[in-house]
Amino acid sequence: MARPISRRHFLRRTAAAAMLALPMAATAKKSAPKASKASVRYQDHPKGRDVCGRCRFFLPAVGHSNGLMMQGTKANGTLAIGHCTKVAGRIAPMGYCILYTPRVHSQ
Ligand code: SF4
Repeated sequence: MARPISRRHFLRRTAAAAMLALPMAATAKKSAPKASKASVRYQDHPKGRDVCGRCRFFLPAVGHSNGLMMQGTKANGTLAIGHCTKVAGRIAPMGYCILYTPRVHSQ
Protein backbone atom coordinates (compact mmCIF):
# COMPACT_ATOMS: atom_id res chain seq x y z
CA MET A 1 0.00 0.00 0.00
CA ALA A 2 1.38 3.39 -0.98
CA ARG A 3 2.05 5.91 1.72
CA PRO A 4 0.15 9.17 1.47
CA ILE A 5 2.39 12.03 0.42
CA SER A 6 2.17 15.45 2.04
CA ARG A 7 1.47 18.50 -0.06
CA ARG A 8 4.82 20.02 0.95
CA HIS A 9 6.67 16.88 -0.05
CA PHE A 10 4.84 16.77 -3.39
CA LEU A 11 5.70 20.41 -4.16
CA ARG A 12 9.37 19.87 -3.28
CA ARG A 13 9.61 16.89 -5.57
CA THR A 14 7.87 18.72 -8.42
CA ALA A 15 10.19 21.72 -8.07
CA ALA A 16 13.26 19.46 -8.02
CA ALA A 17 12.09 17.66 -11.16
CA ALA A 18 11.53 20.99 -12.93
CA MET A 19 15.02 22.20 -11.96
CA LEU A 20 16.51 19.05 -13.48
CA ALA A 21 14.46 19.30 -16.67
CA LEU A 22 15.36 22.92 -17.51
CA PRO A 23 19.08 22.41 -18.20
CA MET A 24 18.30 19.31 -20.25
CA ALA A 25 15.86 21.28 -22.41
CA ALA A 26 18.46 24.01 -22.94
CA THR A 27 21.09 21.44 -23.94
CA ALA A 28 18.72 19.79 -26.40
CA LYS A 29 18.07 23.13 -28.07
CA LYS A 30 21.80 23.87 -28.44
CA SER A 31 22.59 20.55 -30.09
CA ALA A 32 20.08 20.76 -32.91
CA PRO A 33 21.41 18.65 -35.76
CA LYS A 34 22.86 20.38 -38.80
CA ALA A 35 21.61 19.69 -42.29
CA SER A 36 23.67 17.51 -44.60
CA LYS A 37 25.35 19.16 -47.57
CA ALA A 38 23.28 17.06 -49.95
CA SER A 39 19.96 18.06 -48.36
CA VAL A 40 20.69 21.77 -48.89
CA ARG A 41 22.32 21.28 -52.31
CA TYR A 42 25.67 22.59 -51.12
CA GLN A 43 28.20 23.30 -53.86
CA ASP A 44 31.83 24.35 -53.47
CA HIS A 45 31.50 27.23 -55.93
CA PRO A 46 29.41 30.42 -55.89
CA LYS A 47 25.97 30.94 -57.30
CA GLY A 48 26.38 34.28 -58.97
CA ARG A 49 27.49 36.69 -56.25
CA ASP A 50 26.07 34.54 -53.46
CA VAL A 51 28.83 32.78 -51.50
CA CYS A 52 29.13 31.26 -48.04
CA GLY A 53 31.66 33.93 -47.10
CA ARG A 54 28.86 36.50 -47.32
CA CYS A 55 26.25 34.33 -45.61
CA ARG A 56 25.15 35.09 -42.06
CA PHE A 57 25.55 31.42 -41.11
CA PHE A 58 29.21 31.14 -42.17
CA LEU A 59 31.77 30.68 -39.37
CA PRO A 60 35.27 31.47 -40.56
CA ALA A 61 38.11 29.34 -39.22
CA VAL A 62 40.09 30.84 -36.36
CA GLY A 63 43.86 30.49 -36.19
CA HIS A 64 47.06 32.19 -35.15
CA SER A 65 49.67 33.87 -37.28
CA ASN A 66 52.80 35.51 -35.84
CA GLY A 67 51.16 35.56 -32.41
CA LEU A 68 48.16 37.52 -33.67
CA MET A 69 44.69 36.03 -33.69
CA MET A 70 43.51 35.74 -37.27
CA GLN A 71 39.84 35.18 -37.86
CA GLY A 72 39.19 33.34 -41.04
CA THR A 73 41.77 34.92 -43.28
CA LYS A 74 44.77 33.44 -45.04
CA ALA A 75 48.00 35.34 -45.60
CA ASN A 76 46.74 36.47 -49.00
CA GLY A 77 43.62 38.03 -47.46
CA THR A 78 41.13 35.43 -48.67
CA LEU A 79 38.80 33.60 -46.30
CA ALA A 80 39.90 30.16 -45.09
CA ILE A 81 37.73 27.03 -45.07
CA GLY A 82 35.27 27.37 -42.20
CA HIS A 83 32.05 25.97 -40.83
CA CYS A 84 28.37 26.78 -40.91
CA THR A 85 25.80 27.03 -38.14
CA LYS A 86 23.22 25.27 -40.32
CA VAL A 87 25.14 22.77 -42.47
CA ALA A 88 27.45 19.98 -41.29
CA GLY A 89 31.06 19.64 -42.36
CA ARG A 90 33.77 21.96 -43.62
CA ILE A 91 32.43 24.84 -45.67
CA ALA A 92 34.29 26.68 -48.41
CA PRO A 93 33.94 30.46 -48.24
CA MET A 94 33.29 30.40 -51.99
CA GLY A 95 30.61 27.70 -51.63
CA TYR A 96 26.85 28.10 -51.69
CA CYS A 97 23.66 26.30 -50.62
CA ILE A 98 19.93 26.95 -50.74
CA LEU A 99 19.95 28.27 -47.14
CA TYR A 100 22.08 31.23 -48.20
CA THR A 101 21.10 34.34 -46.27
CA PRO A 102 23.20 37.43 -46.85
CA ARG A 103 24.76 39.17 -43.88
CA VAL A 104 23.30 42.55 -43.11
CA HIS A 105 26.01 45.17 -42.95
CA SER A 106 25.53 48.38 -41.04
CA GLN A 107 27.10 51.41 -42.71
S1 SF4 B 1 23.85 28.30 -44.90
FE1 SF4 B 1 24.59 27.51 -46.87
S2 SF4 B 1 25.30 29.38 -47.94
FE2 SF4 B 1 25.18 29.88 -45.76
S3 SF4 B 1 27.25 29.45 -44.94
FE3 SF4 B 1 25.99 27.62 -44.60
S4 SF4 B 1 26.46 26.33 -46.39
FE4 SF4 B 1 27.08 28.42 -46.92
